[in-house]
Amino acid sequence: MHLSFGATIGIIGGGQLGRMLAMAAARLGLKTCILEPGEDCPAAQVASIHLNFAYDDHAGLKKLAELSDVITYEFENVPVDSARFLEQHSRLYPPSKALEISQDRVTEKEFLFRCGAKTARYHKVGNPIDLDAALLDFGGQGILKTRRLGYDGKGQVLFDGNNNPDNGTTFSRLGGVGCVLEELISFECEISIIAARGIDGTFAAYDPAKNVHRDGILRTSTIPAGISAQITGEAVNITRTILNKLNYVGVIGVEFFVCEDGSLCVNEFAPRVHNSGHWTEAACTISQFEQHIRAIAGWPLGSTNRHSDCLMENIIGDETAGLELQSTNAPHLLHIYGKSEVREGRKMGHITRLTPTKG
Ligand code: ATP
Ligand code: MG
Repeated sequence: MHLSFGATIGIIGGGQLGRMLAMAAARLGLKTCILEPGEDCPAAQVASIHLNFAYDDHAGLKKLAELSDVITYEFENVPVDSARFLEQHSRLYPPSKALEISQDRVTEKEFLFRCGAKTARYHKVGNPIDLDAALLDFGGQGILKTRRLGYDGKGQVLFDGNNNPDNGTTFSRLGGVGCVLEELISFECEISIIAARGIDGTFAAYDPAKNVHRDGILRTSTIPAGISAQITGEAVNITRTILNKLNYVGVIGVEFFVCEDGSLCVNEFAPRVHNSGHWTEAACTISQFEQHIRAIAGWPLGSTNRHSDCLMENIIGDETAGLELQSTNAPHLLHIYGKSEVREGRKMGHITRLTPTKG
């Protein structure tokens, strides 16, 4: 199967990732239909159709299936039941299995283990007593994370061994839901691999990005990442295994810790285009967004070659206010997401600054 020019791609979710997917689709002569509850959203501003329905409303899902030639999603918390429903009524990529596994930190880690990848050691935590025992095992240190629904560092509490919070209070502050305590990894750096798998099983990966987070939110991605060819090769191999095991179609983002002994630990993966791949729109001919559209449309994957070195910086919260639109010869690409409301910690845009490649 491959889509013809003029076909329609359905996208579940109306945020900035949906917006950039819709823009990439438009340049390829494809229309987009966004499923997102609410009036105004970044993706609907640039798409052909906006279906204003909840993600689990079968009337909305049926409409999406009727209007779309293929359906994808831009966030990993799409209800799995909705994804399965769409698989029965239409074509959905990436497969619902990828959502099911990545939505729970325990099933995700078990899957990664089956892929031969190392993750942080962890204990399941279902109550404050579990938390006491888990902390004891990890010498009083660790990161408590909700198993489900975390993003941008939300739903996490750090135990650094010094001013540790009270375990009972901490557990209920996270909602009293199922959690994991992860061992604190003292990493050399964090990297991510953005890669794609086509309908025919072909695979293509971009160069790794070195990522810096602050308060759990991605601040910058730097490319090249400054890691060895061997570590890059290992990270790409793990990513390829994940995609093949899931019979995946589309773009994925896999986050890694490079440990101090040079070994790799997978932090998590997101079955969608990824913030640490935004630089590809400026430094590659084919961006991660176009690559995802190509993959789910059944087209051949594009080249992942990079023509420049670059630094991508996220623009967060009220940082848009201080943004100066500079006329400068230093090449940079600005992307603003069109969100009507500024909130603390909310991703509002990003800028990618290019420099010539150093050989
Ligand atoms: P997002 O979905 O936005 O990537 P998230 O809320 O799922 O984020 P994680 O990726 O689990 O959160 O963690 C956010 C950041 O916190 C990581 O990128 C890393 O910097 C730090 N972190 C998370 N887990 C660990 C760990 N076990 N050891 C050390 N640092 C960690
Ligand atoms: Mg993460």
